[in-house]
Amino acid sequence: MEAVEVDVPEAEVDRLLEVEPDDVSPPEELSFCRNVFLPLSTACVNSCDYCAFYDSAADAELMTPDEVEERLRQARDTGCTEALYSYGTEPESYPEIARRLEEMGFSDGVDYLHQCCERALDLGVLPHSNPGLLSYDELERLAPVNASMGLMLETTADVQAHEPWESKQPRNRLRHIRDAGRLEIPFTTGVLVGLGEGWRDRAKSFLAIAELHERFGHVQEVIVQNVVSNERSSYPRPSHDVMRRTVAMAREALPREVEVQVPPNLTPQVPALVDAGVGDLGGVSPVTDDYVNPDYPWPEIDRLRETAEEADCGLVERLPVYERYLDESWCSPEVLDVADELLEDLEGR
Ligand code: SF4
Repeated sequence: MEAVEVDVPEAEVDRLLEVEPDDVSPPEELSFCRNVFLPLSTACVNSCDYCAFYDSAADAELMTPDEVEERLRQARDTGCTEALYSYGTEPESYPEIARRLEEMGFSDGVDYLHQCCERALDLGVLPHSNPGLLSYDELERLAPVNASMGLMLETTADVQAHEPWESKQPRNRLRHIRDAGRLEIPFTTGVLVGLGEGWRDRAKSFLAIAELHERFGHVQEVIVQNVVSNERSSYPRPSHDVMRRTVAMAREALPREVEVQVPPNLTPQVPALVDAGVGDLGGVSPVTDDYVNPDYPWPEIDRLRETAEEADCGLVERLPVYERYLDESWCSPEVLDVADELLEDLEGR
C-alpha cells in the first residue's frame, strides 16, 4: 500500500511552539452531535498497549444485524442524528469473526459495514464510520453511504506504542486521510496527546493535517484527545496546562473553518479549554456508552449546556456532516435527503 509523508516547514513548527492560549480568539459557540455508537466488532489485528477497545480472539464480539437494527431504531426514537460505526482494524483477521461474517453473507468487515450504513440511511440516521485504516478502494466503496468518516492520525512521531503495528505508522494514516480528501469525504481526524510525543511532534501533526486540508478541503474537525488510563494502560493523563497549550496550538495551526474538538467525557475542565480554541464537543450519546473508553461515561446533554454557559458561549447541535459539505460534490443523494430531514428536525427543537 502506498505511503504518504507530509513535509512541514520547520519555521512553521517554531512559530507554533511560541503559541500560548491567550493568543487565541475563543469561538462564539460550542457544537456537538447527538449519536448512537455501534461497535460492530471488537476484533483488531493490532493490540495497542493504550487501547481498551479490542478483545482477544477468544472474546471478540460481532454485532448481529438484529442488534444493529435495534440500535438504529433507538437512535431514531431518541433524536440522534449520527450512527457512529466503529471496529478494530481488519476484524476478519480473527478466524472466528471471518467465519461469522461469511455465515451472515459478508466477505469482510467493510462489506458488513456497507450494509449497516445503508440500513442507517433507510431509517433516517446519518452514518459516520471510523473502522481503522482502509485502502483507497475501501474508502471509495464506503463514501456514498457515509455522511462523513474518520481516522485519528494520533501523531506523526514514531512512538514506541505504535512500533509493532503497520496500520498505526504515520505514513499510512496520512495516506488514508489524503485518500479521503481525493474522494471528497468530509473527514474527522485528530491527535492523541500523551503517547510519548513531544511539543515539536504535536506541532508537526497539526501542520500535516492542515496541509492535507489545504489541498482537499475535507477536514471538518480535529480532535485533541488526551490519553487516559484504563484496564490495559497507565499512561499518565496530560495536565490541564498541556491540554490548553495543545488546543491553542491546534487552533493556530488549522484554518478557521476546521473546528478543534475535545471529548467531554475524557477531558476535564472543558470550559477552561474553550478560550484556548475548542469549538466542538464531538459525538455525545444519550443512549450508548463510549465503547472505546468504557470507564468514561458521556455527560448528560444538560451538562453540555452548563459547560457552554460556563465557557460563556452558546451550545448548538449539529449533524455528523458539517453544513458546508451538504452538496452533491461531497455527499450522495441518499445522504443529502436524510441530512435535509434531520436539519429540519434540529431547527424545530
Ligand atoms: S487503538 Fe485501534 S488499532 Fe489499536 S488495538 Fe485499539 S482498535 Fe486496534
